[in-house]
Amino acid sequence: MKIDRETRKHLIVTVASRVIDNADELTDLDRAIGDGDHGTNMRRGFAAVLAAADELSEKGFGASLKAVGTTLVMKVGGASGPLFGTLFLSLGKSLADEVSREQAVDALAAAIDAVKARGKSETGQKTMLDVLVPVIAVLREGGDGVPERLRAAARLAAESTVAMKAIRGRASFLGERSIGHMDPGARSSELIVDAVVDVMEGRA
Ligand code: ADP
Ligand code: MG
Repeated sequence: MKIDRETRKHLIVTVASRVIDNADELTDLDRAIGDGDHGTNMRRGFAAVLAAADELSEKGFGASLKAVGTTLVMKVGGASGPLFGTLFLSLGKSLADEVSREQAVDALAAAIDAVKARGKSETGQKTMLDVLVPVIAVLREGGDGVPERLRAAARLAAESTVAMKAIRGRASFLGERSIGHMDPGARSSELIVDAVVDVMEGRA
C-alpha cells in the first residue's frame, strides 16, 4: 500500500481527532485508577499533532511518524508521553512510503519492543501493551477480514485490562484495587488502532 501525502494527512488528522474526541473518557478512566490526567495529556499532545498536520504530512511517511513521536514526547507528558512518543518514533524509523503487511508487522513489532524497553514493561501488566500485542498477532496472521478482526481484537484487549491488576505505572500503587477498571492507556491504544484501521479501509 502506498502512503502518499494525502493518506498521511488523512491518517494524522483521523488519529489525532479520534483521541481528542474521546479525551474525556480517557480522563474518567484515569480518574478511577490514576491521577485523572490521561485525557488531558493525550488531548494536548494530539492537538499539537493536529495543528501541525499539513507540515507533518509534507514529510515522507517515516519522517512524519517520527515527527508525531517527537511532538508526543514533548507535549503529552506523564508516563504515557514518552511511551506513545516512542511507539511513533520507532514506527517512523522502520516505515517508508510503501508499506506491505509484512513491513507493518515488523515495524509494529520493533515499536512494541521499544515501548517495552522504555516502560520496563510486559503484557499482562494492565497497560497500553495489552492492546498493542494482541493487535499485532492479528496483523501477523493476516487472512480474511483483517480490518474487522483488528478492531475486534483491540476492543476485546482493552476490555481484558478490566480484570487485570496493574503492575506498572501509577495504577500499580492501587494494587488489587486497580482490578475492575479499564486501563486508560489501553483504551487510547484501542482508539488509535481503530482510527488507523478506518483510514486503511477508506472509511474515515
Ligand atoms: P501518568 O500515569 O504519569 O499520569 P498518563 O495518565 O498519561 O500518565 O498515562 C497512564 C497510562 O500509561 C497507563 O494507563 C498505561 O497504559 C501507560 N503506562 C504507564 N506506565 C507504563 C509502563 N511502564 N509501560 C507501559 N505503559 C505504561
Ligand atoms: Mg495519569
